[in-house]
Amino acid sequence: MFFDNMPKAELHLHLEGALPPRTVLQLAKRNGLLDLLPGETEEAIARWYVFQDFYHFMDVVRTIKNLLRTAEDFALAVYDAGRELAAQHIRYAEITVTPYTYIGFLKQGVTIEMVLEGLEAGRQRVRSEFGVELRWIFDIPRNRAFADYHNGGDYVAGAAENTLEFALAGKDFGVIGLGLGGNEINAPPEPFAHVFAEAKRYGLKSIPHAGESAGAKSVWGAINDLQADRVGHGVRAIEDADLLHTLAARQIPLEVNLTCNVYLKFVSSLKEHPLPELDRAGVMVTINTDDPTLIGTTLSKEYQLLVDIFGYSTADVIRIARNAFTASYAEPDLKARFLLEFDTWANNMASQNALKSPHS
Ligand SMILES: [Zn+2]
Repeated sequence: MFFDNMPKAELHLHLEGALPPRTVLQLAKRNGLLDLLPGETEEAIARWYVFQDFYHFMDVVRTIKNLLRTAEDFALAVYDAGRELAAQHIRYAEITVTPYTYIGFLKQGVTIEMVLEGLEAGRQRVRSEFGVELRWIFDIPRNRAFADYHNGGDYVAGAAENTLEFALAGKDFGVIGLGLGGNEINAPPEPFAHVFAEAKRYGLKSIPHAGESAGAKSVWGAINDLQADRVGHGVRAIEDADLLHTLAARQIPLEVNLTCNVYLKFVSSLKEHPLPELDRAGVMVTINTDDPTLIGTTLSKEYQLLVDIFGYSTADVIRIARNAFTASYAEPDLKARFLLEFDTWANNMASQNALKSPHS
């Protein structure tokens, strides 16, 4: 594929959604949890991965989370996810992990020390073997912070405050931001203002999901109440011209996930995805996969969609791919190094003037 060789950064990627079937099988085997899986072969796991609907998808994600029980499990997951990234020439990734789900919800004996030890061991191995740099976003499972998981109700302390503690504990181990994931319906951003303010006081970035399942109001809440530095999804900002203007004026980047939005039915088809309109409005957009192995995509494929579905030129794809490095929270010297690598590749492409047609 044309964009395979382009050096890439990915900013919106959930650890459990980035694991190949092989890893899931291995985790289940070594923890004696094969009965949680629908089969004992990679083929069976691959069939189970195939996207059916939102509920099946959530069931797969929950099951995978339940297989991670030790520091070694987290290290293996990170290593295998890192290998997948390296194969796509992804040079840098900010991966979302939800420690509260393991520690406070599943309660299978996982501690924050185990999570951090495993993530760090995996990350170092990925760096030394593949030269890929990883950073973490620890996200709050938003629905667990309301009295009624499905219907909202009063805000309850716990999930958010604990996640903040975990993220602060992880600052020396590559955690760069606090996130907010889950279903936005009945779980608005405003009640989380205090934890995000605290996170920012300690130098973490505010990177909530907003404007995926809920509309523009949720994105306004993310930028006004959570002081979002970057927004996960944010595509429903398209519903509000003032919001578009604000996002563009302040250059608050959006992490767009094309295929994922369509699979989860937040956008009716790729053709109707608002990405080109957001881009034309001057919003800083980045392209990501969210859960590549579970929705059967890769970052290269997502870039190819810009060409195949929206008719983007190679130059436009390169412009957008560069945004992911710019909008990353890599330390300045690292960011400069990756941008140089990216620009060198882009200049080579331009000077070859070969620009083999990206149209597949
Ligand atoms: Zn996400």
